[in-house]
Amino acid sequence: MTDQPASTHPTPRLRVAPSPTGDPHVGTAYMSLFNLAFARQQGGSFVLRIEDTDRARFREDSEQQVFDTLRWLGLQWDEGPDVGGPYAPYRQSERLDTYRPYVERLLAEGKAYHCWCSTERLAQMREVQQKSKQPTGYDRLCHGRTRDERAQLPGFSETPVVRMLIPEDVELQFDDLIRGRVSAPRPDDQVILKADGFPTYHLAVVVDDHEMGITHVVRGEEWISSTPKHNLLYRWFGLEPVRWAHMPLLRNTDKSKISKRKNPAARLTWFQEQGYLPEALVNFLALLAYPPAVGPDGEDVEVFTFEEFSSDFDWKKVNPVGPIFDLKKLEWLNGVYIRALETGQLASRLLPYLQRDGVMPASPSLGELARLGKVTELIQTRMVLLSEATALVRPFFVADDELEIADDARAQLKDDSREVLAAAIDALGPLDDAGQGVLGSDSGWRAAPIEAALRAAIVDGMGIKPKFAFGPLRTAVSGQRISPPLFESMEILGKAPTLSRLGRLRDQLG
Ligand code: GLU
Repeated sequence: MTDQPASTHPTPRLRVAPSPTGDPHVGTAYMSLFNLAFARQQGGSFVLRIEDTDRARFREDSEQQVFDTLRWLGLQWDEGPDVGGPYAPYRQSERLDTYRPYVERLLAEGKAYHCWCSTERLAQMREVQQKSKQPTGYDRLCHGRTRDERAQLPGFSETPVVRMLIPEDVELQFDDLIRGRVSAPRPDDQVILKADGFPTYHLAVVVDDHEMGITHVVRGEEWISSTPKHNLLYRWFGLEPVRWAHMPLLRNTDKSKISKRKNPAARLTWFQEQGYLPEALVNFLALLAYPPAVGPDGEDVEVFTFEEFSSDFDWKKVNPVGPIFDLKKLEWLNGVYIRALETGQLASRLLPYLQRDGVMPASPSLGELARLGKVTELIQTRMVLLSEATALVRPFFVADDELEIADDARAQLKDDSREVLAAAIDALGPLDDAGQGVLGSDSGWRAAPIEAALRAAIVDGMGIKPKFAFGPLRTAVSGQRISPPLFESMEILGKAPTLSRLGRLRDQLG
């Protein structure tokens, strides 16, 4: 128990409030991460609310994609439309009755008014204001007029909206956990209820954050200019405002805002498709606005887990300057995380990509899984993205006569390649294939004896430098110019398939 009454120190409740308007935006994950890090550190709650009041931009499957991608990243919410919670419903479209009394109250108190101006009139008004370099904003034609009075004037529309009557003395400053004292421009008479009866974001966000007991609103910096309106609504309703934190927006390398139209990396599903590890992406998103951790010798530590990030979390450390979304850095991190995985774990992470790309069947046999485990060991250090495994693994799972030889690999073949292949077949023929699969064995069909036999025959016997000696063999076995280590690959493939592939290319060159 503390001396303070519980109500002055409520348990922090944070939320992320994406709008289901298409593929989930990477910004949704970034916001979720910072909200969740603070919520977890404080022993508070993290809520997922779906802000689906923009019916024109609503997309049916988008909500499920938000759930799936955030879960994939491990950014799990405590309350939300799918898991329920004490403040359900968590979809704004299911809360329409909640907003009405708030609007009625403001209308009754003269703090809000109906506006019947048609969209054409509003557009015209804005054009005139812009041309004459006046500040743009609603000219209050409808304010103080009854419906009938207004109907006499031009630009009338039957279905009104409701606007806030922003007072002269509106408070334009507020405290931000990241930015300190912030000054925002004077707001326009904001629409809070649309003609279709749906609230706008501005009303719904205040009502819902209040009704859901939210204590901290962590959102993008594009909402800074709206905060005075939101604080005003809190004041009008006699409510204690939330604490604000406006996160810096993610930017492209040219400093423009990351948009799904221009940058595929703005879509969360893109990271899944490419084969980024969720833990690498989380680490990367944290680093975008948060400094590296400090190592034992004072050095920067850029690789950290969500738990480490959350326990260190401090709003004062968040950098308010728009971070550049540098995919090179993410690729580096992804490689670090891939190499740190246990080989078995990596193999299970690769499997869905290999299945997607048709390299492995939907229900692989134990033998196929064992082979994948061995191949994974060979390629673990050769990948930055999980999707890159497809090209590296495919040669181990295709029939010998279906192996495709890439053009750049074929282009490397020389006049003596046929002879090299023939010598390799002769050299490998006598190797016993009984050693295959016997761990630690250094005789039989193992990488070391394979290498010894090939070196003796081709490098020593024919006097060909290793670089040229093994190129044709690599091409025959993997079909690629660059492949996992050759002798280990031959070991995994087995003796008969190796000889069959060497023979096939030799015959093609004949
Ligand atoms: N629906 C808003 C958005 O997607 C939420 C902003 C907020 O967190 O308040 O940007």
